[in-house]
Amino acid sequence: MSIDVPIFYAPPEAVGGDVIPLPKAEGHHAVKVLRLRRGDLVVVVDGLGNAFRGELTIGSGKDLRSVTVRQKMRGWGEPLVKLTLAAGLSKGSKFDTVVQKATELGANRIVPLITEKSMVKMDDPARAASRQKRLEKVALSAIKQCRRSLRPEIPLPVPLDRFLEQTDSNSLNLVFDVSARPGTALARVVDQEARRACALVGPESGFSTDEVNRAVEAGFRPVSLGSRVLRAETAGPVVCALIMAFLGELN
Ligand code: SAH
Repeated sequence: MSIDVPIFYAPPEAVGGDVIPLPKAEGHHAVKVLRLRRGDLVVVVDGLGNAFRGELTIGSGKDLRSVTVRQKMRGWGEPLVKLTLAAGLSKGSKFDTVVQKATELGANRIVPLITEKSMVKMDDPARAASRQKRLEKVALSAIKQCRRSLRPEIPLPVPLDRFLEQTDSNSLNLVFDVSARPGTALARVVDQEARRACALVGPESGFSTDEVNRAVEAGFRPVSLGSRVLRAETAGPVVCALIMAFLGELN
């Protein structure tokens, strides 16, 4: 399929039938911004890993922009590798950057971690929920931009120890640690057959030694990214890129 075909989002409840009604903002974008016309080829993604190729239909009302489905594609644009990035939550919009880049790089789940040295407190449930909404929006526009169909799951921030309790022992589990010994480079520890991976990345002030030790006890292998210390918002995307590259997803 041509790389130019425009991509729109419709929520899962809207994609059951032969015609998908586009949400108002998506329809507006199609007609008023991209200037698409009736019959133009488009793709609709539902954020759950389904994509629908079809033709744009334009009715008379604003809500009457829809897509007549010609082909359904499961797992469209999705990597085979299921990668979880669990990264220390940071202040301001830095975590938005992590979510955007990790989504482009194919992460399946992006978990904001609360750690000992996290500078963000998430005591207020309403604020946590609105931040989660914002991150989901960032991920949604990233999936459209990068042409994939699954919006990574972004749970509410979770304390590191609670996250470690759910460790999946069948996954390639890595903790990125600035003080990891040389020789623990990713190239040495990566199992190229792995189809699931989970990467822990600290917040801007890093993991404590205790936290790294607890991650190791839970089955995570310490990994170094070399002698230069990357900022948290650099480290998250770099880690996603490296893991995806080693597991053959960036070819
Ligand atoms: N001042 C902090 C820096 C944290 S950098 C400290 O000394 O710990 C943020 C996170 O990015 C780190 O917790 C780690 O997970 C990852 N990271 C950055 N540079 C790294 C490197 N060279 N090797 C391994 N992990 C690194």
